Amino acid sequence: MDADPAAPTLYPLGLKLVGLRVLVVGAGAVATRRVPALLDAGAEVVVVAPAATPALRALAGAGRVAWHERPFRPSDVDGAWLVQVAVDDPVAADEVSAAARERRVFCVRADDRHAASAWTPAVTRHGPVTVAVLGGGDPKRSVAVRDGIREHLMASHETAAEPARGTVALVGGGPGDPELITVRGRRLLAAADVVVVDRLAPGLLLDEMGPDTELVDASKIPYGPARAQEEINAILVDRAKRGRFVVRLKGGDPYLFGRGGEEALACAAAGVPVTVVPGVTSALAAPAAADIPVTHRGVAHELVVVSGHLPPGHPDSLVDWAALGRLNGTVCVLMGLKNLPRIAAALIDGGRPPTSPAAVVAEATTKEQRVVRATLRTVAAAAADVPPPAVVVIGDVVSVLAALFEEESAADQA
Ligand code: SAH
Repeated sequence: MDADPAAPTLYPLGLKLVGLRVLVVGAGAVATRRVPALLDAGAEVVVVAPAATPALRALAGAGRVAWHERPFRPSDVDGAWLVQVAVDDPVAADEVSAAARERRVFCVRADDRHAASAWTPAVTRHGPVTVAVLGGGDPKRSVAVRDGIREHLMASHETAAEPARGTVALVGGGPGDPELITVRGRRLLAAADVVVVDRLAPGLLLDEMGPDTELVDASKIPYGPARAQEEINAILVDRAKRGRFVVRLKGGDPYLFGRGGEEALACAAAGVPVTVVPGVTSALAAPAAADIPVTHRGVAHELVVVSGHLPPGHPDSLVDWAALGRLNGTVCVLMGLKNLPRIAAALIDGGRPPTSPAAVVAEATTKEQRVVRATLRTVAAAAADVPPPAVVVIGDVVSVLAALFEEESAADQA
């Protein structure tokens, strides 16, 4: 990968485009890729093209960009601070370049970088840090270098000047597979001074913590569950008050049956700022990992996620199991293994057919994943020896992709 001898020496810049007009000529695939970053930078984007991709039409329809539905004319450049040429035809592109040069406006060309007066780098963004790579005329090289830097940044602490010390982030760790945390969650985790971790948070993520990070294992806190939660709240507040950046790493999504709301309230009451990073919840990921789409056209148009930690009829229960029995759609029960015999009976009493397909998905998205398929009548017995954590899915969606998992089990047997 030698430098292109014709490549000019470039002067790198970060453009502040807030409120400034940027002209985009062409509205095909290249423009579709460029416009979102221009909008993100706050530019006033004007697109000139006789036809546009559906994505750009949607942005125009929403008023996010102005689209002039016609061919380019040189006066389009008037008032623009930057021009992006995103047309294939070199003659048309040259016309835009010439108009830009005449008006002393920088011009980026997708078709021919040598004819451009500005080049767009390969970019990777990590919170406050943006890395832009210019590859000396070889786009493959700039992308390869960018990817290398991205890999490095994903695993490092360096991009995390923010968030502020003395705050708490409630981070959803996803259902189990460490790849299913969000990009933001992973970045904050790498930046944490203290990580307070749940039993169900994906353990493999802890591999990536820095050596100086304090790890508090919330599942090891003695006392009963109520006292333990108070203890966790106190730890979050205490560490934040000492100026540390605290990540509370939770399984799935922090606000779905995770007591994240209580932790947010406790921090707020102590004057500690809290941010929440949503996560991929097991309520949706477990069915998906078992080839069960929780909704499906013509099969289910509704989905209820319900906690089964209290059995039907328990005085503290807030769930109307009879109403769920009348529901046609999909029911996903979390924390319901122990009470599954009573839950299934209550749904049948409420009117659900006992032949309703049902599945239990345990340890979803991990190497230990197990799937048991049955009916509402038989599911409790079929899953009697399955250890938690598991999501129980009830509804016709359970068998909608049967062709997929039949192949799978046939392959297992072969
Ligand atoms: N906040 C979590 C749920 C916490 S409640 C989330 O959004 O996923 C704990 C319950 O989540 C467990 O009892 C089980 O029902 C479910 N669960 C969590 N991880 C799971 C996994 N990997 N596979 C199946 N169920 C899981």
